[in-house]
Amino acid sequence: MSKPVLVVGAGPVGLTMAAELARYGVPVRLVDKAPGRTDQSRALAVWPRTLELLAAAGCAGAFVATGLHAEAVSIHAGGKVLARIPFATIASRFNYLLMIAQSETERLLEDHLQSLGGKVERGAELTDLVDRGDGVSCTLVHDGGRSETMEAAWLIGCDGAHSFVRRRLGLAFEGDTLPTGFIIADAHVAGLAIAPDEPAIFWHSDGAVMFFPMAPGRYRIIADIGSTPLHAPDLKEVQAIVDQRGPGGITLSDPVWLSDFGVNERTVRNYRAGRVFLAGDAAHVHSPAGGQGMNMGMQDAFNLAWKLALVERREAGPALLDSYSIERSAVARQVLSDSGRMTRIVLLRSHLAQWLRGFAVQGIFKIPLVRRTVANRLSGVMIAYPDSPLNAGFARGLRGARPGQRFAADYAPGAGDLPRFTLVATDDAQARAMMARHTALLKPELRQPPRKGIWLVRPDGYVAATARSGNWPVIEAALAGMAADPSPLNRRF
Ligand SMILES: Cc1cc2nc3c(=O)[nH]c(=O)nc-3n(C[C@H](O)[C@H](O)[C@H](O)COP(=O)(O)OP(=O)(O)OC[C@H]3O[C@@H](n4cnc5c(N)ncnc54)[C@H](O)[C@@H]3O)c2cc1C
Repeated sequence: MSKPVLVVGAGPVGLTMAAELARYGVPVRLVDKAPGRTDQSRALAVWPRTLELLAAAGCAGAFVATGLHAEAVSIHAGGKVLARIPFATIASRFNYLLMIAQSETERLLEDHLQSLGGKVERGAELTDLVDRGDGVSCTLVHDGGRSETMEAAWLIGCDGAHSFVRRRLGLAFEGDTLPTGFIIADAHVAGLAIAPDEPAIFWHSDGAVMFFPMAPGRYRIIADIGSTPLHAPDLKEVQAIVDQRGPGGITLSDPVWLSDFGVNERTVRNYRAGRVFLAGDAAHVHSPAGGQGMNMGMQDAFNLAWKLALVERREAGPALLDSYSIERSAVARQVLSDSGRMTRIVLLRSHLAQWLRGFAVQGIFKIPLVRRTVANRLSGVMIAYPDSPLNAGFARGLRGARPGQRFAADYAPGAGDLPRFTLVATDDAQARAMMARHTALLKPELRQPPRKGIWLVRPDGYVAATARSGNWPVIEAALAGMAADPSPLNRRF
């Protein structure tokens, strides 16, 4: 483990990646070409599944204490509330949406990284990479022009939507650019008559205006601008849109950020090329509708870190790493499709389509199951890896989480410094023998099963294998398939 892993880009994804590797004792360097942290608020929404993973990493408390807790989101049109989707039904101990500026998220992640002995090397740009098969030769150019060549065990490109790493590998970023632009303002808002910590979307025949709370009295305002060329607005223009499309009686003041953005929907097919991985915006970009981009990127990092740590520590075989791209690219495809659909619904222009939209949304969101499903889907707790190559031993008829699904809403793997699977099984001689055989992969303590059966739970809380009580060969085979050096005993199965 002498060569470090090089993480390129200290946005939320690179910071998460470096902190997780540091937590697991893997040598890591984190570089960013920018001289300082972003002061832009960009991503505001941190969803429950991300909070669960931050809790496992040992740093959710600081996030929960810093952000606003939004209890619901509402959709309005023509002076009526069309729908209100409460978050209390989300199957997580974090059953709310945390609103926190991306600049704060990055600050908290950097504090967490520092608490683990890591740091960000700023003003250091990756300008070349060569994958040599047993490592990656990287060229870094530091502020002032000093050039450094370093050997990395692995390189992880968390270098954002315009990723140098992706371009250097020649990976196509397939997808489209939407023809509509958006403007954005972070400003003080007076006169908005909805709960102060509730995101609210107002539909109007000319477009939408959306309010996302950031701090008492302060909101992120987003509005679509059709085919008008992209431009940073002034406050007067935003006020005019709010007056026209909003509920009326709102006064904006004290803007701290006025900007614009276009929407790209793009992904790479494979997040891995040899010893180089991509994560976050470097691998996928999409509409901010649903607030998923940063969450998805941070979850990429959580997914890859434990696998890379096990492989680097020689506790699992390298095939474990092949599951990363398969699992995460499937999630990205789903999120791209969901956020694209949401965006197109917001952008409907024909009067008939808008009328139908209002009628359908009002009717469908009266059904509690619909409200609950939408909230849980947005929260990330329904993310699953049904096609993961790590899934093994689905026991038909066994109630409870299946391979690829999140184990349980209240499951907290506990912040530890080694990535370990948990055996959920009744305490008996066979269970203890299994733990004794697989000390490199299994936690040394059992968790009692919620009902009859055996579950093998991954370090990130997803089920790897299930078996009926007593059917230990299934679990043994799953562990042996991942182990670095399957023992003769394991090969028996
Ligand atoms: C207006 C807006 C609102 C959004 N709202 C949400 C939301 O509510 N929820 C959500 O989940 N997402 C949201 N997003 C998306 C979110 O901001 C991104 O998904 C997130 O920033 C991606 O993080 P990242 O770490 O992958 O990349 P980035 O944050 O782009 O970081 C990449 C880093 O890499 C560095 N870098 C680049 N090239 C090099 C190089 N060659 N060498 C060294 N360093 C390099 C850059 O300096 C940068 O610091 C929003 C985005 C926008 C624009």
